[in-house]
Amino acid sequence: MTTVSAALAAARAKLPAGEARLLLGHVLDRSAAWLVSHDDQVLDEDELLAFASLVARRADGEPVAYLLGRREFFGREFTVSSAVLIPRPETELLVDIALAGVDAGGTARILDLGTGSGCIAITLALEIPQAQVTAVDASAAALGVAQQNAERLGAEVRLLQSHWFDGLAGERFDLVVTNPPYIAAADPHLLAGDLRREPVAALASGADGLDAIRQIVAAAPAHLAPGGWLWLEHGYDQAEAVRALLAAAGLSAIDQHRDLAGIVRVSGGRRA
Ligand code: GLN
Repeated sequence: MTTVSAALAAARAKLPAGEARLLLGHVLDRSAAWLVSHDDQVLDEDELLAFASLVARRADGEPVAYLLGRREFFGREFTVSSAVLIPRPETELLVDIALAGVDAGGTARILDLGTGSGCIAITLALEIPQAQVTAVDASAAALGVAQQNAERLGAEVRLLQSHWFDGLAGERFDLVVTNPPYIAAADPHLLAGDLRREPVAALASGADGLDAIRQIVAAAPAHLAPGGWLWLEHGYDQAEAVRALLAAAGLSAIDQHRDLAGIVRVSGGRRA
């Protein structure tokens, strides 16, 4: 007979205690608090097998978010699969900045480029009632995940398969946001930890990591309404390069924000 506490103790040989609790809670469909108060509960064979399988997959490097099939972002639960980047807490900064810039009264045509799970676009659609939100991704599988999230969270988002602005000829937006891939292709981080299991197209972008950002920034002015803003997330060491790209594209009022770790993480500019 294996109890909750015995199963967790056994898993600790392979995993941190917090991860083991998340995985067992997922198998039992119970909270961490329930596990603590029911540590002498006996697990049946199916539960033990399911837990052992998740522990083995985690020990083999699968991200916890993929094993649970979900990750919290901006206070809401998003479905995730290995077709999409796992939403990151630092990306909430991009959402905060976008929200601060939207005029409370007027309509807002918003575009999210490379939406992945849809976490940015769906959050903006839910936080800004008057927004008309479009989200694009080059990956049909990612759009499927975004579609599920939009439906489950009750957000109205127009989803389109498009490589950056390619499918949006002639369309203009008041706000364009993006968390594009921005890691250098040879960066050893890509071979470590959870990044190994995430879609490489969502992470890496050319020799200096700036290929996607260069394309997006160069094309942005043609898709911004007068006075419209482009905001993008980028790597810890890319603030100067991104500022220069925004300026070279003719955007003005260039502004940069630090994440909670103090790193300049989000940059933006406005079309005059
Ligand atoms: N927009 C999605 C996110 O922020 C996906 C970003 C990406 O795949 N680079 O999570």
